[in-house]
Amino acid sequence: MLTNWAGNVIFGAREFHQPSTVDEVRALVARSERIKAVGSGHSFSLIADTQGDLVSLRQLPPLMEIDSAAMTVKVAAGVRYGELAPFLHSHGYALANLGSLPHLSVAGATATATHGSGDRNGNLATSVASLDLVTAQGDTVTLDRASGAVVNLGALGIAVAVTLDIEPAFQISQRVYRNLPELDLDIFASAYSVSMFTQWRGESLDQVWVKERVGAQTQAWQGKQPAMAPMHPIAGMPADSCTPQLGEPGPWYERLPHFRLEHTPSAGDELQSEFFVPRSQAVQAFQAINGIRERVAAVLQISEIRTIAADELWMSPCYQRESVAFHFTWIKDPAAVLPVVQALEEELAPFEPRPHWGKVFTMRPAVHPGFAGLIELYDPAGKFRNPFLDRALS
Ligand SMILES: Cc1cc2nc3c(=O)[nH]c(=O)nc-3n(C[C@H](O)[C@H](O)[C@H](O)COP(=O)(O)OP(=O)(O)OC[C@H]3O[C@@H](n4cnc5c(N)ncnc54)[C@H](O)[C@@H]3O)c2cc1C
Repeated sequence: MLTNWAGNVIFGAREFHQPSTVDEVRALVARSERIKAVGSGHSFSLIADTQGDLVSLRQLPPLMEIDSAAMTVKVAAGVRYGELAPFLHSHGYALANLGSLPHLSVAGATATATHGSGDRNGNLATSVASLDLVTAQGDTVTLDRASGAVVNLGALGIAVAVTLDIEPAFQISQRVYRNLPELDLDIFASAYSVSMFTQWRGESLDQVWVKERVGAQTQAWQGKQPAMAPMHPIAGMPADSCTPQLGEPGPWYERLPHFRLEHTPSAGDELQSEFFVPRSQAVQAFQAINGIRERVAAVLQISEIRTIAADELWMSPCYQRESVAFHFTWIKDPAAVLPVVQALEEELAPFEPRPHWGKVFTMRPAVHPGFAGLIELYDPAGKFRNPFLDRALS
C-alpha cells in the first residue's frame, strides 16, 4: 500500500511508476489519462493523490550541475535538499534558505511553496530560476520564475529538473532562548532566520530559535540568557535529533533546518496545518489563536511561528504579502484535529489567512486568476487534476 510519510493519505493510484530517464517520463505522461508526481511524500493534504498513475522521479539520474557564472544549480526534480546542500557546500555554494527538515524533494517543496523563516527570506520556491516541466502531451517546456508556474501544486505537469539560484557558502550560529513573554515581531528582524515555538499552554512562547549569519551586520537580539544545553522544540524530547546550537558556527545547511538529515523528527506520528497572515496583523492573529488556546493545546504537539518575505509567485501563500506563518503539529487523530482546524480558520478569517498547500486545511484558498490560464494551456484535459485540486481551484 502506498502512503504519504505520515500515513494519513493512502494513495488511490492504480499504478506506481519509477522511470529512470526523462524520455520514459515523457512517454508515461503522454499515454496516461490521469497522473501525479509524488516527491518525498511529506505533504499531509491530498495534493499528490491520484486514481491514475503515480510517478516518483527518484530513479532519474541525480543531476546536480552548478553554473558558477549564472550562480545557479540545475537539479533533477527528485533530488532532496539533504543531498543537494552538502554537494553545494563542498563546492563553496549555498541556497538562501531551507525548511525545518532536509528530507524534502526540491520539486515537491517548490510545488507547495515550502518555506523556512526569516524576515527577508522568501519561501524556497523563490530560489527557483526555472523549471523543466513535462506537460500533458509529453512535451518538455522550460518555465521561468516570471511565468506564474513555479508554485504549481503539481497541476501543470511533471517537473523533471529545477534550476535554483545559489550564493557563496555561509556560516550560521544558532541559539535557543526560552520563555518569551509575548509575540515580539522585532525579534524576527534581529537575525537571518528566527523561529518561535509554543504549545499554547500559557501566555508565553516556549522557545525562540535564533539563527544568525556569521559576519552579518544584523542587530542581534539582546534577549535573556540563551539555553545552556541543546534543546528540542518539544520540551522533554531528546535534542540529539536537532541541529547544533549553543552558538557554535557551522555550515548553513547544518543550522538552517531544525533537524539533522540523519534523524527523522518523528515516525510520521502527526498531522500538520499552517496558516499565513499579513505580518502587520500577526499580533492580532496571535491573540485570536490565544483565545482558543485550550482547544488548540488539547490536540497539539507543537506550534511554530515563522516570518516569510513577500514574493511574486502566483500561487504562493506569501504572494505580494509580507507574512507570518502559524504552524501546528497535531496529534495524529483527524477526527479530533479537524474541528480545531476549522475553529482556527474561523478565528483567523478576519486576517485573510492563506493555508499551506501541503498541510491540513478545510477552508477555500485564494487562487491567483492567472493560474487557470496556465492550466488551460498546459493541461487542458485535466490530466494532472485530482479531487484536491478540483476543490481548491474551483
Ligand atoms: C516533518 C515535516 C516537516 C515539514 N517542514 C516544513 C517546513 O519547514 N516548511 C514548510 O513550508 N513545509 C514543511 N513541511 C511540508 C512539506 O514541505 C511540503 O508538504 C512539501 O510539499 C513536501 O515535499 P515532498 O517532496 O514530500 O512533496 P510531496 O508531498 O510528495 O508532493 C507535494 C506536491 O508536489 C507535487 N510534486 C512532487 N514532485 C513533483 C514533480 N516532480 N513535478 C510536479 N509536481 C511534483 C505533488 O504532486 C504534490 O502536488 C513539512 C512536512 C513534514 C512531514
